[in-house]
Amino acid sequence: MEFKNSEILYKKGCENLVGAVNSPVRAFASVGGNPLFIDKAKGAYIKDVDGNKYIDLVLSYGPMILGHRNKKVEKAVTRALKKGYSFGASTNAEIKLAKIVCDAFPGMDKVRFVNSGTEAVLSAIRLARAHTGFDKIVKFSGCYHGHMDAMLVAAGSGLATLSLPGSKGVPSQAVENTLISEYNNLESVKAHLDKYNDVAAVILEPVTGNMGVVQPSDDFIKGLRKLTKERGVLLICDEVMTGFRSQFGGAQELVGIQADITCLGKVIGGGFPVGAYGASNKIMENVAPLGGMYQAGTLSGNPIAMAAGIATLTELEKQNPYKKFDLVAEKIEEFLLSSAKKYGVDLTVNRFGSMINPFFASNEIKNFADAQKSDTKKFAKFFWAMIENGVFLPPSQFEAWFLSSSLTIRELKKLEKAIDASMQVVGSL
Ligand code: PMP
Repeated sequence: MEFKNSEILYKKGCENLVGAVNSPVRAFASVGGNPLFIDKAKGAYIKDVDGNKYIDLVLSYGPMILGHRNKKVEKAVTRALKKGYSFGASTNAEIKLAKIVCDAFPGMDKVRFVNSGTEAVLSAIRLARAHTGFDKIVKFSGCYHGHMDAMLVAAGSGLATLSLPGSKGVPSQAVENTLISEYNNLESVKAHLDKYNDVAAVILEPVTGNMGVVQPSDDFIKGLRKLTKERGVLLICDEVMTGFRSQFGGAQELVGIQADITCLGKVIGGGFPVGAYGASNKIMENVAPLGGMYQAGTLSGNPIAMAAGIATLTELEKQNPYKKFDLVAEKIEEFLLSSAKKYGVDLTVNRFGSMINPFFASNEIKNFADAQKSDTKKFAKFFWAMIENGVFLPPSQFEAWFLSSSLTIRELKKLEKAIDASMQVVGSL
């Protein structure tokens, strides 16, 4: 396989872009080698600038749940483009998307659209503080909530991959109200709530994707909901990744809880920049113009992004691919585990709906410390072998693989072959 054009673009990109990328994980830092530059994508496939074609399990880190360039989404976007790109005034499309989102999440009476997951989380945290009058926030190590200052502590995803302790440029005052707990460990939350009576909220990924896929135990997630309610602490579910992906009503529906505030992103914009936060009327009434919590955005509720979101969610509800996702993920797990066994590779597979993660580790993975025991060198070998075999994966051990409803038996067969060949490479190390 040749990557000549990607190599040329990488060199050129480094001149005026930082590391030739606009988001660090795209730099392939943890797998080494030259990052790929993409030309185009369609359905389950993505093509790089050298004409190499891959089954795409990155899917823009989640948004492209219907696969690339779904016909209905493309039609809706094209129609919207002809009416104008941005108005700085309200449109009917915002009302329509808000209704779809609020109908899907029982805890949400009102929603506010923003432009990214990061913005959704920073607004949700401001809202929790505005509503309770308290400043402290409990977060879990390994959960990633975007790049706002207060959340760049013990974060997973890009940070874990790059092995940075936090981030330079974040003032210590910005994180002094952030308390860290361990995922799947209720006692570690209780300890904070026993010590401090000024905690505004606990935030978590109800099923994680940013330390790899980790599910909460039933006791942990239900216990967390009960504990926060008892203590008058808000529970924020960051469903930027899982919202409309795990289930139409998000991971909350599957793990059996209802958040006080929910953050969304990715799928709700169908590949365009959209984030959202929502809650009950009582909580949302804090937000301007109804209340005193200021939050705004020039491009928020952008008509093209709203059109893509409406078309994506409408089609998703119609397709209802969630059972199929489970079956496909189960098959992929089987391929991974059987080839790992065949070639003597230690592997633990975690999955939840359309998100799946093979950890190159022999231990059970229930939290960030467990995930970090994975052999990232083996992952790097596996990643490049998968590329050679025509599969594009997130270039990090700690990022979930995403499935789209465009995958068919044909791609599953190709995946089986690619996984077997790539595991053989890892086994021969
Ligand atoms: N929260 C979660 C759970 C995420 O997975 C992400 C992005 N991976 C974010 C927040 C931040 O979203 P964005 O990159 O759109 O700012």
